[in-house]
Amino acid sequence: MKPTNPVFTGINTTVFETMSRLAMAHYAVNLGQGFPDVDGPEDIRQVAAKALIDGPNQYPPMLGLPELRGAVADANKRFYGLDVDPNSEVLVTSGATEALADCIFALVSPGDEVVLIEPLYDCYLPLVKRAGGIPIKVRVAPPDWHLDPEALGAAFSDKTKAILINNPMNPTAKVFSDAELQLIADLCQQHDAYAICDEVYEHLVFDGQKHRPLMALEGMRERSVRIGSAGKTFSLTGWKVGYVTGPEALIDPIAKAHQWTTFTTPPNLQKAVAFGLGKDDSYYHELAHDLMNKRDRMARGLSALGFSVLPCASTYFLTCGFDGLGLGKSDVEACETLVKEAGVAVVPVSAFYGEDAPTDYVRFCFCKKNEVIDEALARLSAFLTAASAESA
Ligand code: PMP
Ligand code: GLN
Repeated sequence: MKPTNPVFTGINTTVFETMSRLAMAHYAVNLGQGFPDVDGPEDIRQVAAKALIDGPNQYPPMLGLPELRGAVADANKRFYGLDVDPNSEVLVTSGATEALADCIFALVSPGDEVVLIEPLYDCYLPLVKRAGGIPIKVRVAPPDWHLDPEALGAAFSDKTKAILINNPMNPTAKVFSDAELQLIADLCQQHDAYAICDEVYEHLVFDGQKHRPLMALEGMRERSVRIGSAGKTFSLTGWKVGYVTGPEALIDPIAKAHQWTTFTTPPNLQKAVAFGLGKDDSYYHELAHDLMNKRDRMARGLSALGFSVLPCASTYFLTCGFDGLGLGKSDVEACETLVKEAGVAVVPVSAFYGEDAPTDYVRFCFCKKNEVIDEALARLSAFLTAASAESA
């Protein structure tokens, strides 16, 4: 038999699915895969339910329902001062993952170089490779995950077609500084490169900070596409509704990639997300505020147990070192110990690297009910106390 496509053949199932399966098998508290354990606002779900019953339930327009495209354009203006034409500069997709695939397939041709910042969200590398692109990786390192201007500059060349950035960034929970964004913008303009901006955590930014899209920097409007996810913005990750904003010249080929991928996205969910995006400021403030409290609750508990908790400015995630806790030699071993013996599932940060990954950090997801966070901390405490008694 002829070989199947090596990009997808023999590779691992995503770490998120793997850890969720292990969590179920071991009755563990699942702090691995990033999803809230309560569903998003009931009024948004009511709009979806009513639209499902009332219909129509037939193919919506390929670019997305006009209501949702309008709502995405309005949100760009309201939050970032960006003027966006809803008819030609917005595309609705079945999740940010589909949006990423559409953007990469539409902008990257075989042989093009794509700059990626490592650690990276796990679908980036296979999608770039599937497009025939050549990944050029630049690492950011803990504890502050600062982007080194020289390393980034060296990654760009005349062959660079695009940079793919995730801001705010999973798993590092980093928000790119103004200086870092400016550096990226300058390099894109110097090398005539596009920027694909995965901004799914745009509304989950803490400590009074505000998200700033790369697209809003001077000279970047025409060469950036920015991706949002209703899953993250409305705590409805299973809905898989995403949206891309960009200049018409880029949205046009991206929409052509979309038309041969999913073509469209369920109409009732689109209608409900359009309603959601119109929610008033208090919704967005509370979303970030609630999550920030959960971050603090979990960070306090993990620090008290001896984990070294790295700073977290955004997202659902805390990255932690586990040195001296006796969990194992690597992050993968530590995750196995934690899920099997402590009853808490987390994710190894090495899963967010191509090769030669550092293996000394694990990622905890904190978008959980307070009692679930407390239960996880209690299990970790019981396990670590018993383990240290045993080794004494
Ligand atoms: N990008 C990043 C950085 C993510 O963490 C995720 C996970 N939700 C996605 C994209 C995918 O989003 P969606 O579920 O909307 O496809
Ligand atoms: N983005 C989620 C995470 O980082 C996972 C999404 C998925 O499982 N596809 O945990």
